[in-house]
Amino acid sequence: MPASSPTADLHALARTIAEGCTECRACQFRCGFLHECGTPKAMADLLLTTGKGRARAFECSLCGLCSTICPARLPLTEFFLAMRRAAMDTGRISLLPYRPLLNYELIGASRLFSLFQLPRGGDTVFFPGCTFPGTHPASARALLAHLRAHVPDLGLVMSCCFKPSHDLGRQDFFEKHFGRLRNKIRSMGVTTVLTACPNCFKVFSEYGDGLTVRTVYDVLAEHPFAGGAHVRGAAIMHTPCPYRGQDRLQDALRRMAAETGLDVEKTRQDGALSPCCGEGGAVGMLRPELAAGWGEKTAAMATGRIVVTSCAGCVKFLSKHARAAHLLDLAFFPAGTMAGTLRRPKGLLTYLYRLLFKLRARFNLG
Ligand code: SF4
Ligand code: SF4
Repeated sequence: MPASSPTADLHALARTIAEGCTECRACQFRCGFLHECGTPKAMADLLLTTGKGRARAFECSLCGLCSTICPARLPLTEFFLAMRRAAMDTGRISLLPYRPLLNYELIGASRLFSLFQLPRGGDTVFFPGCTFPGTHPASARALLAHLRAHVPDLGLVMSCCFKPSHDLGRQDFFEKHFGRLRNKIRSMGVTTVLTACPNCFKVFSEYGDGLTVRTVYDVLAEHPFAGGAHVRGAAIMHTPCPYRGQDRLQDALRRMAAETGLDVEKTRQDGALSPCCGEGGAVGMLRPELAAGWGEKTAAMATGRIVVTSCAGCVKFLSKHARAAHLLDLAFFPAGTMAGTLRRPKGLLTYLYRLLFKLRARFNLG
């Protein structure tokens, strides 16, 4: 078996887990998936002795909470992703449940929805991702205008980062398609990518191959938007999984939320120990009740307070369980966000708003 095959990688990780896990159960205590499956050591032992259990990793959100909690600092998320990759490599995993998500990915990267634009002399592009411009169109437009006012010769790249395929373990597909996107961006002369979506941030950070990756919140921290009216209310923060471990960014997000006038309470939920919103790893397409269990944890912590987050996907999933708001909506349109009057398109309408965003941006960027 080649040393770098998905199965060889998985076995190496499984041995690390089997040898390092003390079965303290700290990770199991916080995760519904591990509560069902047993400790990571039990899963690794089963895999090493029988070769079984890989497909169960499609019920793991890949949220990274267990890796953060584990006192032995074991590479648990890598282990579960490797299980997915090895299972996918056998060709026996049906993609049928994931077809809507994979279509979403392909549409995001299609000619109709993508855009590659960089003014002469520019080296930085805004990469808004697939979800944000369609579900938060007013804030996406306001954000682009704000960024253009403060980042000289800012360009815009609209496409998909292919995180869905990455997390489903379709590594060859991901590397081919994200690699093409990355090479195209680099060939334009881009050195810096500004992301609005935490998933895009993670993909570009891990696979950008020399591209500098910053979030739009870094720019907003340097050049705050000062146009919004202040609002009142109690709130907690929800940290998107890809921002786990990004302590400086989490502080900036909390500061931005507090600057809207909200009374933001720091909880154990906010930061490194934040649970998944329920969207992670496309678990909801296989085990909707497991995905919902994550959202319910946040709702229980919120106890009626507004949940502020910085990911359009988290807003969508948490809104099923609690009152959730996107930080950028609050920053640019605080009153409308709090009153619930800010337009938040759903379903097919989101595609229309993505196209409108693209067409307006193309017109304005010239
Ligand atoms: S769902 Fe999250 S906490 Fe549970 S095993 Fe997967 S990565 Fe770890
Ligand atoms: S927290 Fe770490 S050591 Fe404890 S059961 Fe989980 S993987 Fe094992």
